[in-house]
Amino acid sequence: MISDMYTKDIVKKYGFKFSKRLGQNFLIDNSVLEDIIDGANVSPDDVVLEIGPGVGTLTRELLKKAKKVYAVELDSTLIPILKEELREFDNLELINEDVLKLDLSELIKGESNVKVVANLPYYVTTPIVLKLLNENLNFESLTVMIQKEVGERMAAEPNCKEYGSLSVLVQYYCNIQIIRKVSSECFIPSPKVDSMVIKLTKLPAPSIKVRDKDLFFKIVRLSFNMRRKTLWNALKPLNIDKVELQKAFQNCNIDPKRRGETLSLDEFGRLSDFIYDLL
Ligand code: SAM
Repeated sequence: MISDMYTKDIVKKYGFKFSKRLGQNFLIDNSVLEDIIDGANVSPDDVVLEIGPGVGTLTRELLKKAKKVYAVELDSTLIPILKEELREFDNLELINEDVLKLDLSELIKGESNVKVVANLPYYVTTPIVLKLLNENLNFESLTVMIQKEVGERMAAEPNCKEYGSLSVLVQYYCNIQIIRKVSSECFIPSPKVDSMVIKLTKLPAPSIKVRDKDLFFKIVRLSFNMRRKTLWNALKPLNIDKVELQKAFQNCNIDPKRRGETLSLDEFGRLSDFIYDLL
């Protein structure tokens, strides 16, 4: 395992200037690094997609374990540093791009056993996770460092304030495991928020079966858009005949006076399947 000084040494060696705008909080704690690697469970047959390698602290460990690592870094000033410091590895493909603009399915086309492992830039955590899940990419798991608050939203159950569309989306596609909490001192510079390492393992099939996935997610979004509204009011934009909608609620045994935040994934699924016939 590499030394605790690795990140700091490289930053110093190249006189690297951190960009707050790019969410550059580099990992300096070895035990956290080990827990990410262990949690991701990377084996020699695996292909890893790392988003935001920074100065390559996590990348180096991934390169030792995986068949191949695709590392996508937006900051072009980091590319020569990564090339130089990781020159001993021939299984690295470095991509200087914005991950949100990259065609990831094209990048990992033909690859199997793909695992995403990253200390994500916090300003774009949710868009990155949404992209990975919604584009139906061929990856097995996502082991990532994210803000603690975002991790709590992903893992939240109905009836708590963190429960929302993100919880439903992640729980629809994945099994969630919280690997560990991480304090802000484990990074340079220290972020203002606490973090956690979370592992999302893609389920072989979505956790619930629905007739129309897009309608299901539309209903979920509408239900959480105005959290204080009853389902009855929140679903008005669907423009469904009131009598028919009342019947749909009755048939799936859901009180329309309830608020979206009280519904389980199963209940959202049942409701969207009944509403499907009314559109
Ligand atoms: N992996 C390194 C570590 O753990 O020390 C750095 C992690 S740092 C939290 C996030 C990294 O993501 C930075 O290197 C930053 O430049 C990069 N980054 C920020 N926005 C990005 C984007 N849209 N696409 C790709 N990389 C991005």
